[in-house]
Parts: sequence; C-alpha cells; structure tokens
Amino acid sequence: NNTFDILIVGGGPIGLACGLEAQKDGLSYLIVEKGTITNSLFNYPLNMTFFSTADRLEIGGYPFPSIHPKPNRSEALEYYRRVSEIGELNIRLFEEVTGISRQGELYLTSTSKSKYQSRYVILATGFYDIPNMLAIPGEDLPKVKHYYYDPHYYYKQKIVVVGANNSSADVALETWRKGAEVTMVVREGELGRIKYWTKPDLENRIAEGSIKAYFHSSLTAVRENEVDIHTPEGKVTIPNDFVMAMTGYQPNFAFLEKVGVKLSDDFYRYPYHNPETMETNLPGLYLAGVVCGGMETHVWFIENSREHAVKIVQNILKK
Ligand code: FAD
Repeated sequence: NNTFDILIVGGGPIGLACGLEAQKDGLSYLIVEKGTITNSLFNYPLNMTFFSTADRLEIGGYPFPSIHPKPNRSEALEYYRRVSEIGELNIRLFEEVTGISRQGELYLTSTSKSKYQSRYVILATGFYDIPNMLAIPGEDLPKVKHYYYDPHYYYKQKIVVVGANNSSADVALETWRKGAEVTMVVREGELGRIKYWTKPDLENRIAEGSIKAYFHSSLTAVRENEVDIHTPEGKVTIPNDFVMAMTGYQPNFAFLEKVGVKLSDDFYRYPYHNPETMETNLPGLYLAGVVCGGMETHVWFIENSREHAVKIVQNILKK
C-alpha cells in the first residue's frame, strides 16, 4: 500500500520526530530518506560534540542518556537509530524524493524507487547537502574540502581553514593537534559563533602563534601547491596542501522551488511558511526542522525545531 496520511521527506532528527508524532496520534505516515538514517549527522566530523545537552536532542519522549555533558556524534547516531527501532518507525532509506505534485485531493510523491500518495507532505530536508561555495579560481581542485571528517588524514599537511565559526574552529584545533600546519583565513575582524568551551582554546593557539590567522582577509585563489590570500597588507601567497572551506551550507532551494514552495526575494531565501502551523503556500504541505531558515542556517537547530512536529500534526488533526 503506497497511500499514507503523511509523507515525510527526510530522515533527520526532525523528520523522525514528525513520524513519531504522527504515529502517536494514529496517522499513517512514511518517512523517505535519500541516505542512511540521520544522514547529516552521519556526515558530521568524526569527533564532533553537540553544543546541546542530550535532553535537548530527545525526540518522541524517548530519553537520551549520555555520560558526557554534551553528547558526541556516535552517541547521537546510536540514539536516533535506537529510537527508530524501538519506535518502529516506518522509514525507507537510500530512496531520494525527486518530485512532488498535486493530484486532486492528494500529493503524488515520486522517488528514485517508487511513487506514493498522501494527503499531507512534510519537507524536513535540512541544509547539509549543499555547501556554500567560495567562487574563486581553483575551488574545484580535489584538495579543497567542504566537509571534514578525521584529523588524522592531515598529519604534516599545510592546511588553510576558511571561516571562523564552529566548524572552522574544530577543524583548525583538531588538525593542528594531529600535526598539521594550520592557517585560518577570516573575513571578519574576529572569531565568530564558536562553542563557549572551544573559543578560548582557539584564541590562545592564535595568540601564541601555533595557529596562524589572517583577519579581515579572504582566500582569492587556490593552486596545486599554494594559495593566495587577500589581506589588509596586500596579497600573500603561501604553500598549501589542503583547503578546508568551512563556509556553511544551504538548503536545496532548487528542490523547494520545483515543489512550488515560495521563497523570499532577499538573500536569505526564506521558504514561506506560517510559523503557527508550519504550512507553506501549498495547502497541506509543511516544512519542519532546519530547512525553515533558508540561508540563515544557524537560527533553527534540533532543540528549537523538534516542536515543529507537534505543530504540524496538531494542524493536520484539526483538518
Ligand atoms: P537534517 O538532519 O539535515 O535531515 C535532513 C534529511 O533529509 C537528511 O538526512 C537528508 O539526507 C534528507 N533529504 C534531503 N533531501 C532529500 C530528498 N530529496 N529525498 C529524501 N531525503 C532527503 N543542532 C543542535 O540542535 N545541536 C547541536 O549541537 C548541533 N550541532 C551541529 C553541528 C554541525 C557540524 C552541524 C552541521 C549542525 C549542527 N546542528 C546542531 C544543527 C543540526 O544539524 C540540525 O539541527 C539537525 O540535523 C536538523 O535536523 P533536520 O532533521 O532538520 O535536518
């Protein structure tokens, strides 16, 4: 049977939360995820620690026990997988949603493997699949990375880290501790949004000169063995093995537009939704989770967007 009350696109923490909420209220649903379960978290850096405490990452009322003040990536993967198992979530993995269209009263969702019908659709597609590009010569070289996994790989390598938020701070500190030579290139005059327990560590490494940082600067070109940096003192060229472009990510706007969700005309491209109900300009089609922020990807996170699941299911029940 390929007909459900709700079709949920995305098996991240919030897509799972929507499934649990629907199940609790007796609605039929299917979650369709293009990768593994909680695919974004799976692709986080190996040693990543959440900025949220475990209780704030919980969904569906299942407790998330962690012996650490803040859980790490492997604990979160374990948690969400176990919740899906115990909660008997109806989820199909490695199946990509390619199109959603209206057919009378129903939505028809096409995927890489099948077609589904549902009265309602929830898009919980996150933002971690598309990196923000630097748009500079040489960015297409394989040594330029937008995702970072394990510091071991960068031992004895000359690394340039672009950006000054959480991801950049983690990359800079971790790779430096595993023997990389690290230079940060920061557009602003100071470090950005960094976990409060990480920031002083990085500040001290920069102050003592262990990690070099160019502020008010930007990377302007990447070549096989060197990079150009535009600094207030003029152009600097330094030898380089890898560029870690930790410049953030963006939701799949092309997908949202194809489905018919209205986006704001400004830089942020906020996908239109009623904040009370999370319903978009398309009746019965909802947004949940971090996709809601458009280019402002730091506004929503797990702890403040889990409630989208409740709002949406309550609105559906009223209909
Ligand atoms: P995601 O987890 O991104 O899930 C979206 C899912 O949709 C993905 O699995 C994706 O594969 C799938 N998908 C996309 N398109 C399709 C398609 N067409 N068909 C099928 N499936 C599709 N938040 C916190 O609350 N606390 C933290 O400490 C924290 N730390 C973070 C650290 C990093 C490095 C990053 C990048 C983010 C962090 N966040 C944190 C934010 C966190 O990632 C998000 O809050 C969380 O992943 C959002 O869940 P989501 O379900 O909205 O989106």
